[in-house]
Amino acid sequence: MKISKNFSIQEFVPPAIYEHFGEKSIWFIDPKIVQMAQFIRDRFGKPITINNYLSGGTFQYSGFRDNACTIGAENSQHRHGRAIDFRIQGMSPMEIRADIIKNFELFRASGLTTIEGGTPTWTHIDCRFTNMDSLLIVPYK
Ligand SMILES: [Zn+2]
Repeated sequence: MKISKNFSIQEFVPPAIYEHFGEKSIWFIDPKIVQMAQFIRDRFGKPITINNYLSGGTFQYSGFRDNACTIGAENSQHRHGRAIDFRIQGMSPMEIRADIIKNFELFRASGLTTIEGGTPTWTHIDCRFTNMDSLLIVPYK
């Protein structure tokens, strides 16, 4: 089910959730993660990969993580439907983070508050409430 110009709900929730809840899977995610993804898609003008199981890929926990998921931190923002990990072909996470840091006001308008620094092959962004005007950069562990 399509939920924005370029994204389907399955790109934000694991297959088990979609199979069970169908279009109600949107209950598990913050609408801001869809806005953030769409903003990034439009800004860079390139396809971005979040969950790709719909197209035969192996990523299923790049958005919302349910209790069946054992990867990542226990209280990760992914578990609250407020985070995505994504990849853009031809761009390194370092380049993407540099653009977010430099142009934070633009990204902030889409809901983004936080990035993880140092993730090697993906970029983590989330929309947690920080009550800050500046970007929060949390260390990748
Ligand atoms: Zn993440």
